[in-house]
Amino acid sequence: MKKKEFKAESKKLLNMMINSIYTNKEIFLRELISNSSDALDKLYYLSLTNADLKVKKDKLEIRIETDKDNRCLKIIDNGVGMTKEELENNLGTIAKSGSELFKEENDKKKDIEIIGQFGVGFYSSFMVSKEVSVLSRSINSDKAYLWTSSGADGYTIEEASKDEVGTVITLYLKDNTDDDNYDEFLESYTIERIVKKYSDYIKYPIKMEVETEDKDKKKKKEVNTLNSMVPIWKKKKKDVKDEEYHDFYTDKFYDYEHPLKVIKSEVEGLTSYQALLFIPSHAPYNYYTKEYEKGLMLYSKGVMVMDKCADLLPDYFSFVKGIVDSEDIELNISRETMQQDKQIKLIAKSIETKIKKELETMLKDERENYEKFYEAFGEQLKYGIYSSYGMNKELLQDLLLFYSSKDEKLIPLYEYVERMEGDTIYYASGESVDKIKMLPNVEEAINKGKEVLFLTNYLDEFVLKTIGTYQEKKFQNVSDANFDLSSDEEKEELKKLNEESKDMFALMKTVLDANVKDVRFTNRLKNHPVCLITDGEVSLEMEKVLNAMPNGDTVKANKILEINESHPISAKLKELYKNDDKENLEKYTKVLYSSARLIEGLTVDNPTELSNLICEIMSK
Ligand code: ADP
Repeated sequence: MKKKEFKAESKKLLNMMINSIYTNKEIFLRELISNSSDALDKLYYLSLTNADLKVKKDKLEIRIETDKDNRCLKIIDNGVGMTKEELENNLGTIAKSGSELFKEENDKKKDIEIIGQFGVGFYSSFMVSKEVSVLSRSINSDKAYLWTSSGADGYTIEEASKDEVGTVITLYLKDNTDDDNYDEFLESYTIERIVKKYSDYIKYPIKMEVETEDKDKKKKKEVNTLNSMVPIWKKKKKDVKDEEYHDFYTDKFYDYEHPLKVIKSEVEGLTSYQALLFIPSHAPYNYYTKEYEKGLMLYSKGVMVMDKCADLLPDYFSFVKGIVDSEDIELNISRETMQQDKQIKLIAKSIETKIKKELETMLKDERENYEKFYEAFGEQLKYGIYSSYGMNKELLQDLLLFYSSKDEKLIPLYEYVERMEGDTIYYASGESVDKIKMLPNVEEAINKGKEVLFLTNYLDEFVLKTIGTYQEKKFQNVSDANFDLSSDEEKEELKKLNEESKDMFALMKTVLDANVKDVRFTNRLKNHPVCLITDGEVSLEMEKVLNAMPNGDTVKANKILEINESHPISAKLKELYKNDDKENLEKYTKVLYSSARLIEGLTVDNPTELSNLICEIMSK
């Protein structure tokens, strides 16, 4: 019989499984049982909508058989089964999400993360088997087929015979090595342990023949059900150990780290549901991409209706994983009718409130954990405010954190407001906390006793603009022309000085052309000679962000070059102007403007010219 080739990516994954150094090889059983359970779900579901199918619902089950003589293990189900085409399509290729990753080269160290992160499914059986066969008969066919493969060089499919609808997976175990003993998978106590650990909640009985001793020490064989069949989300929180929740989470949602938070919710009333939700401790590798699909698993009356119900989660909480089980949901609800469904809407609202409350409590009582959460998903919350034009601000603004110059750590806005005076929340933005600290304007504000929020995320400033006012306080960028802490007399004095030098500034402005809106003296700088501030809606950081966007229009901030009036450089400029030394005034202006740009982390158009000018001035 001719062998067929696996698809390229499948072959890679398969090779990885065969040569796996993964220490947790036992998960193959979880994967196969989970497939069987899905197949039983599918058949059960079909029987609900098609009365002609004679399905004995109480006979649906999974069986495990071991055969020590032939060193093989069988996983048997009487689920929906597979046709010849399905065998070919389902077992010849791997899930898309997995294959994407395998296009990249992977070193073995990454094995563990990958195996943890994806449902590598059926192929994981090759971690323990030298040959695998799948005998299956579909509910839609009266023929059965046998799929066989002993690894990456391909598989065969041939017609076979099988009386019942369903699937038998036979694993021919690998030979033992010094490092790995595969015989353990033939021992009933090992199987029992693995099933209890990973598949206890599976709602169909997982049966196995075990040998027991009766009271006369006589050995006898009996068929036991290994799993309790009670879904973990239906158990009371006090009856479940943290570890069990964690294991359930890592298995079900393919994470290699424990969740940061387990949220259990049970609601009875207008709508009734049980939910078991998790906040992951890190963002999935594709979280901030289009590929990431949000959603919660949706169960109704113990039957899985949908494995990612997007309508149960708002976008800003899209990081939440979990399960919702509600008796109020129609089994035949579809993705299309979902959006209109009143029950779904009620549940979604209730879940949103619950998640928000949990996050708020975490922020108050477990700051360190919250910061970890915020590092992973804070951007999503910000995006939630920004992208809704502020519609969600009441809901989300108290979940945001910003770095405070006073505490030198992240704080929520309400902590700033609690201890502030006046009606203005000050902030500055830049690439990093260290760089912001060095900005002359920031130094000045802090010297004058102001607490300044340092915004380092590209969305931050947009978010504050969207929030507009917080508890009736307005936000003020310390690099904005409006930021002025000087007294009325000081203002008058400065105005006079600027007036006196207005012709000089006009000349300097011509040198800088359209780059600046104005050149002037300032008294806001203590020791620093120059700074660049902006006037209007767009700040320098916003200009950087907007211009970095693909297809973004070129947006320019209105820049003003400010020179410290009490710095010796001012006297020098005035002298050059007085002596009608236009040539040098021009050079000085260029150097000052370029320096001010560099301070703000902007680039200069002509670094060579700048360097030449500096050297020329230095050589004088
Ligand atoms: P996944 O379960 O993530 O889709 P798998 O590689 O484990 O990936 O399985 C691929 C597909 O093969 C399944 O989606 C299912 O359609 C089919 N399949 C696997 N095991 C069985 C089974 N025991 N009965 C029926 N179909 C199965």
